[in-house]
Amino acid sequence: MLHDHGAAVRIVDRRPGAFRPSRAMIVHPRTLEVLRPLGVAGALLDRGDRSPEAELHLGRRRVRVRLNALDLPDTAFPHLTLLRQMDVEDVLLGALARRGVRVERGTELADFRPVPGSVTATLRSAAGAREERYRFLAGCDGQASTVRARAGLGWPGGPYREDAVLADLDLDTGLTPGVAHVVAGREGLLMLFALGETAGWRLLATRPHGAAADPRDLLAGAGLDVRVRNVAWSSRIPLQHRLATGFRAGPVFLAGDAAHAHSPAGGQGMNTGIQDAVNLGWKLAYAARHEEDLPALLGSYEQERRPVARQVLALTHLVFWAEAGTGPVPAFLRGTLAPLAAPVIPVAMNRRRLVATLVRTLSQLRVNYRSSPLSEGIGAPRPGDRLPDETVRCAGRDVRLHELTAAPGVHVLLHRDARLPKVSGRATVHRLPDRPARTIIAVRPDGHVGFRDTDPARVTGWLDLIGAPGG
Ligand SMILES: Cc1cc2nc3c(=O)[nH]c(=O)nc-3n(C[C@H](O)[C@H](O)[C@H](O)COP(=O)(O)OP(=O)(O)OC[C@H]3O[C@@H](n4cnc5c(N)ncnc54)[C@H](O)[C@@H]3O)c2cc1C
Repeated sequence: MLHDHGAAVRIVDRRPGAFRPSRAMIVHPRTLEVLRPLGVAGALLDRGDRSPEAELHLGRRRVRVRLNALDLPDTAFPHLTLLRQMDVEDVLLGALARRGVRVERGTELADFRPVPGSVTATLRSAAGAREERYRFLAGCDGQASTVRARAGLGWPGGPYREDAVLADLDLDTGLTPGVAHVVAGREGLLMLFALGETAGWRLLATRPHGAAADPRDLLAGAGLDVRVRNVAWSSRIPLQHRLATGFRAGPVFLAGDAAHAHSPAGGQGMNTGIQDAVNLGWKLAYAARHEEDLPALLGSYEQERRPVARQVLALTHLVFWAEAGTGPVPAFLRGTLAPLAAPVIPVAMNRRRLVATLVRTLSQLRVNYRSSPLSEGIGAPRPGDRLPDETVRCAGRDVRLHELTAAPGVHVLLHRDARLPKVSGRATVHRLPDRPARTIIAVRPDGHVGFRDTDPARVTGWLDLIGAPGG
């Protein structure tokens, strides 16, 4: 995002190798939307399963749930995508490499010091430590973030009483290989995906901290018809729920798990982190083009993304309680009520609207930045809202709106009778002759409506506000 919006970037990672077993397995529609202008959505879809199905094992009953062809007409991706985190990282690394950007592995950010107008970072590698000066620093360095600690930002919250257990297994089993198997038991949730990295199947389960968590015992306890031939790898991951007290300290920003840590419930962490990075990337790139500070632009990152992280935390907390909680209520819900409810679950899951509503919320398709300092004007979609996808007429053909805006930068949509604003190369302009109005809509690089009005002179002011380069 930074590179595609004109910034020179340097990426360091203290991990020496690229491979690390995947934790995330689900990519949400909104994540594909925000990555689309970077030209990577196709490659991600090619590697993923876009017609995922899950088999819910509820007591002795089995319920099949389809998670594709959802009733989401305003997105090009009306489905969940089953895709390993390692594949996502690999596609993004490939996209960086094609742009000539390399991730410098084995290089650690050891410390930094803000200096007027920039930041001095101490980078340590096998070659030794050196200090270098940068305009901005983005800490995408995970839950134990060095950047967050050195910036003095608080990390309130706490650990969960349950851990996640991950394992790659070879199984002898009659389980259908192409679907995810989900077992809701009194002990917690257990999932099996035919997506292992070092063996055929990937297990994900939750168990109370300190309780035995051998994958063979977990599977035996789940009552699945499987025999474990080989445990290729397994790991137990402590979980926590925390939110950084701020996402910014001067020229230093936090994104991803460095800013918010939650349970894996609902598959939110990686998706939210990518959406943070897209929100931050274009802002830093635009701000870096200016000598003077752009307070509205830089301040808007925390103003927009911290409330989203807070909502994600609340949602994942609730879902995790139901999925993994070992108190009498969640254990009763999973172990007793869910099997009793099994006959009505297919009816509920066939209500395409209901499933779509759930996915819309989980996918963050509803996220808006209406109270952001970057949102100007009135009308629907309101400034701050995500621009919904729909078919429009443009340049003599019918085209989907998100196809028009699937290129980096700001896009200005002019309804039929709108007067042409002076954008002087700072935005791509599209005239929509099938919209009989004088409305002018400016769409931010992350796909949110930033400006909506009929006065072309105000567009220039808004482009100045966000520091759009060019002109
Ligand atoms: C069991 C489990 C299942 C999950 N399932 C899902 C899911 O289905 N969907 C989903 O969206 N999310 C899921 N998540 C969450 C997701 O894995 C994380 O949110 C995601 O990995 C966070 O990415 P990140 O880049 O912010 O942090 P990390 O993945 O932790 O990466 C941080 C990077 O920073 C580097 N680093 C750290 N310190 C320094 C330093 N000082 N200098 C240089 N480099 C440094 C590290 O080497 C690392 O490469 C799951 C998590 C778990 C535990």
